Amino acid sequence: MRVGPLSATLLIISGLMASCGKAPLTIDPGVSLALAKHRAATISGINYELSLTIPEELDETIEGRVNITFELGDASQPLQLDFRESADRVRSVTANGDESDYRFIDEHLVVPATELVIGHNEVRIDFTAGSSSLNRNPEFLYTLFVPDRARTAFPLFDQPDLKATFDLELTIPAGWTAMANAPLDDVRESENGMLHRFVRSDLISSYLFSFVAGKFETVNRNVDGRQMTMLHRETDKEKLARNVDEIFSLHATALDWLEEYTGIDYPFDKFGFALIPDFQYGGMEHVGAIQYNASRLLLDEAPSDTRLLGRASLIAHETAHMWFGDLVTMKWFNDVWTKEVFANFMAAKIVNPQFPDINHDLNFLVRHYPGAYSVDRTAGANAIRQDLPNLNEAGQMYGAIIYNKAPIMMRKLEKLIGEGRFREGVREYLAAFSFGNATWPELIEILDGKSTEDLRAWSDTWVHTPGRDAVESQWDTSAEGEGGPFRYGLVPADIADLESPDEVVRAATLINLYENLLARTGPGAVEYLQELAGVVRREDNELVLERALTQLRTIYWTLLPQEARDEFAPVLEQVLWETMLRHEERSKRKILFEAFAAIALTPDGLARARDVWSGATSVDALSLGENDLIGIAQSLAVRLPDEAKTIVELQVARTENPDNLRKLDFIAPSLSADPAVRNEFFASLADEVNRSTESWVLEALANLHHPVRTAASERYILPSLELLREIQVTGDIFFPKRWLDATLGNYNSTSAAATVRGFLDERPDYNTQLRMKILQAADHLFRARSIVQSQRRTDPR
Ligand SMILES: [Zn+2]
Repeated sequence: MRVGPLSATLLIISGLMASCGKAPLTIDPGVSLALAKHRAATISGINYELSLTIPEELDETIEGRVNITFELGDASQPLQLDFRESADRVRSVTANGDESDYRFIDEHLVVPATELVIGHNEVRIDFTAGSSSLNRNPEFLYTLFVPDRARTAFPLFDQPDLKATFDLELTIPAGWTAMANAPLDDVRESENGMLHRFVRSDLISSYLFSFVAGKFETVNRNVDGRQMTMLHRETDKEKLARNVDEIFSLHATALDWLEEYTGIDYPFDKFGFALIPDFQYGGMEHVGAIQYNASRLLLDEAPSDTRLLGRASLIAHETAHMWFGDLVTMKWFNDVWTKEVFANFMAAKIVNPQFPDINHDLNFLVRHYPGAYSVDRTAGANAIRQDLPNLNEAGQMYGAIIYNKAPIMMRKLEKLIGEGRFREGVREYLAAFSFGNATWPELIEILDGKSTEDLRAWSDTWVHTPGRDAVESQWDTSAEGEGGPFRYGLVPADIADLESPDEVVRAATLINLYENLLARTGPGAVEYLQELAGVVRREDNELVLERALTQLRTIYWTLLPQEARDEFAPVLEQVLWETMLRHEERSKRKILFEAFAAIALTPDGLARARDVWSGATSVDALSLGENDLIGIAQSLAVRLPDEAKTIVELQVARTENPDNLRKLDFIAPSLSADPAVRNEFFASLADEVNRSTESWVLEALANLHHPVRTAASERYILPSLELLREIQVTGDIFFPKRWLDATLGNYNSTSAAATVRGFLDERPDYNTQLRMKILQAADHLFRARSIVQSQRRTDPR
């Protein structure tokens, strides 16, 4: 419930209500904080018996029944169940055995107070499930309910602090497999397919309830006494064989480590995971049934160190969530960052010993600082902990501040307290709140008791204040026992340190020089690009090299006027090609070739990239997998419009994976040389149905807005902004920001900047969170515009 100005009459009424203990609870869309608090105070002991019948045909509806039992402490108010669907999807409701005189108001199914009793209650609902969070594909589906999307599928109490048990029954087509939070109890034939019944789940939050069903292969393994199940759809047998042992072993290592660190055995009934093609995120930590983006776990040949480490970190991250998030859950989604920061933090501790050859301080630096700065430097920067009046805005809590800045904060917090005492505090916290919920202040209180520092004040700056300035001005962030490279803020840097013998210093210098370039307090774009070419030539550390290549690509495409880029192209092509041939390690060869293919602009450079991609030229020790080839094909098709059609056709002909073929089919119009085809494709994205596989949409947007096409594509910016609100409602949590990044990231023109400013100026009452997301995503555009303008003014060319 939002608190607005109250009229005198309302004050009197609410005063009267309060005096007899019957404050009226309003019915609002979403799940308001007031509703959540009221329900958490009055409802307990919840169990859902949920049955769903899933037909093979995508256009047939999923019919369901849910029998909800719970204890009620106050039966004076109507009961609000969350169901974000139309009223006609509810077929019948009974409350405590009798047909209910329910109403359907603003995404809630409301059962009258007269039908409820204090104590045990039972509400049964027959309904047609909403499909928007069921991710229905031709041969499979999977639920993804974080943060508040369970209520799009079936009626329930959708808030993290009303943990419940689930008895799930799925009727699915013969030949399909299913996985859920709890072990499978039995399978038998039924009228509409095969009935899979699962045993009662552990006590879990609604956003962690999940199932996957479809045509999957099942791999069962017992690793050191742990039974684990993996579902996948990979058709490349060799690829699978190359990866499968490592995937299981990484999970086992993570589980062992977490049991040891937390002092708590794996807390749930079973452990399994499903590899989903084109999954929206890296992974999602559903209790006992983790979902992963298949391509993040099934790596192509010769993966880079970064990829290997990325996979190990992702697995450790999701596994850590079983304790941090699933066993102890935030009370409300404003503290979603606590589970994310713990998962990241533990993942680093788990993974590091497995990669003794990697410098982990360096890895932490390159994985967190650039990402944190990318938002914290902007006018739209948010604090780590934000206000959240309604769960329907919970998706907007997520972003680089949670995933990148919060880990930096946590690392400094551990340094401040000391590793041993930090671990004691974490154990105390987990033990105190197991199978329950906790807030950040509750954790800080435990940690504060273990420290002589004033952790509350420290937390106020780091956690409650947005931007780099507050931290920089109030805390000496280099003094926390980890040295200068880990200072947080806009830190001065010296170009000479790019040649430091210490690789952490070299990486920090790259990061800080780039920040100063963007702030226009450091080197100019041309000067720095020349330095980067030197770094690429001599750098031997892959993580530093990768950071340099990322910067080089961004500067080359967005921070140079076109004439400067044309001038640089032959030089950079040569540097990247020759450096690639000089390195014998496959992973370095690959990242250098990918950078070469991404920046090639001269006819020779493009022909060379195309010939390697097509196989006409072969380069020793350079192995490109199907996903790599698809990526390269797209960026080549954009820069070789005359060959675009042939390139796409060849890529389709050589693609084996059926999910990749569907993706190519979807993306193809975004690669067309004909602007009319691209316009039509862009227009089609206004329809929610065409945005259902978000990763495809983002790849297509990257093609539409490729830097060589910005003049033709700038017209898409305004309609893309106009669509943002709808995208926030219909899309998954990362989609609004990614949609904006893909839309704005390559522009540097005055007109593009004016379009964004104008959009915001004309909408003073626009949603605050979305305004911040726009300001975050447009930051690069605003800075790029002024950097490019300044070169035009000072450069006589
Ligand atoms: Zn996570």
